[in-house]
Amino acid sequence: MSHAIEELDLEGRRVFMRVDFNVPLRNGEVADDTRIRASLESIKYLVDQGAQIVLASHLGRPKGKRDDSLSLLPAAEHLAGLLDQEVRLTDDCIGSGARKVVADLRDGQIAVLENLRFHPGEKANDKNFAEELAHGAAVYINDAFGAAHRAHASIVGVPNFTEFCAPGMLMERELQVLQRLVSKEDSAVEHPFVAILGGAKVSDKIGVIEALLSPIDVLVIGGAMANTFLMAQGYDMGESLVESDKLALARTLLKKADEREVRVLLPSDVRVANNPQASQAQVADLDAIGKGLMALDIGPRSEKDFAAVVSTAKTIFWNGPMGLFENEAFSAGTLAVAKAVAQSNSFSVVGGGDSVAAVNQTGLASAFDHISTGGGASLELLEGKSLPGVEILREKGAKA
Ligand code: ADP
Ligand code: MG
Repeated sequence: MSHAIEELDLEGRRVFMRVDFNVPLRNGEVADDTRIRASLESIKYLVDQGAQIVLASHLGRPKGKRDDSLSLLPAAEHLAGLLDQEVRLTDDCIGSGARKVVADLRDGQIAVLENLRFHPGEKANDKNFAEELAHGAAVYINDAFGAAHRAHASIVGVPNFTEFCAPGMLMERELQVLQRLVSKEDSAVEHPFVAILGGAKVSDKIGVIEALLSPIDVLVIGGAMANTFLMAQGYDMGESLVESDKLALARTLLKKADEREVRVLLPSDVRVANNPQASQAQVADLDAIGKGLMALDIGPRSEKDFAAVVSTAKTIFWNGPMGLFENEAFSAGTLAVAKAVAQSNSFSVVGGGDSVAAVNQTGLASAFDHISTGGGASLELLEGKSLPGVEILREKGAKA
């Protein structure tokens, strides 16, 4: 795949690096800096090599117009703090102000371009916009794994206008870890391989479930996703979040799992309440959910069953919380699974925006082997789809 970053001669060269600084903000500050920290390895490498570093990212959905509440200023300031180095933010990602800041960069210095999505050209992959962004850059690096599934200007346009391109170190690691999970080679992962899937919907994750059925040995299903499977098995799920139009699909997936000799573990009990804001949960057996109640977390017996399976695993992929973990009353199942994964003697990978937030919330993140920064991108990669941001690097590498 094109060049590796280590193969490039970077000293004194202008490097445009696409990063993923699409971080949650609270009161004008970075509320969770996971993604910024994840890019530090590549950024520090560029600093050490003496490159002139231009970082570019989107933040939120400003719809192609300037929106000061979505400025990258908090991210740039946070980065400066983490590096203990000056980081300049341009007034806009293109134009004379940005050109001046970028032209003034000395070796090892860093500028952050203002939010790419303040311009409609970013999402539209406008050629002129991409050329403007690339102005003066000799090297393009993409370290924004979380955005690699988008065919936007900074992802697939800019590399057409630089002499060299390469994936960043975060991008390389994400690709290596995730591709190995669904590799066709038997020896790629150690078995038993347990996938734990949960979250809001089955429909978001059909492709991933199907792709994982080949390599995995056990499929553990929790969260609202489990509700649909349980309903497909005939349980009355009361007021629970279910996708009643996906019952046939759920049955098909169970049948496919059976054909591939994948053991499927569904919750055998749940925690219920009559509304998602409830401050207390009641434990219920599956045949006792009943009218007016919703299953909002897995139950204590399921926690034990899930943990027992997880403890035997040698490889784990986890996507999707086991319950409505944002409400503490329904966070026990997710916490129990996080603990079981953390204690297991396995290679453990977690992906998905909410799942990663849940793991961070438990304080057990450091016990995971890989925390994917890409929600949609990691799922698409596991599904076997090619990511535009990765394809372009491969194409350019072939020419270079
Ligand atoms: P990820 O972002 O990790 O891919 P999803 O977006 O698919 O995960 O799902 C996360 C959301 O699912 C969370 O907001 C969580 O509250 C919700 N959720 C999980 N289980 C339930 C449930 N039983 N009932 C309602 N919502 C649930
Ligand atoms: Mg989500």
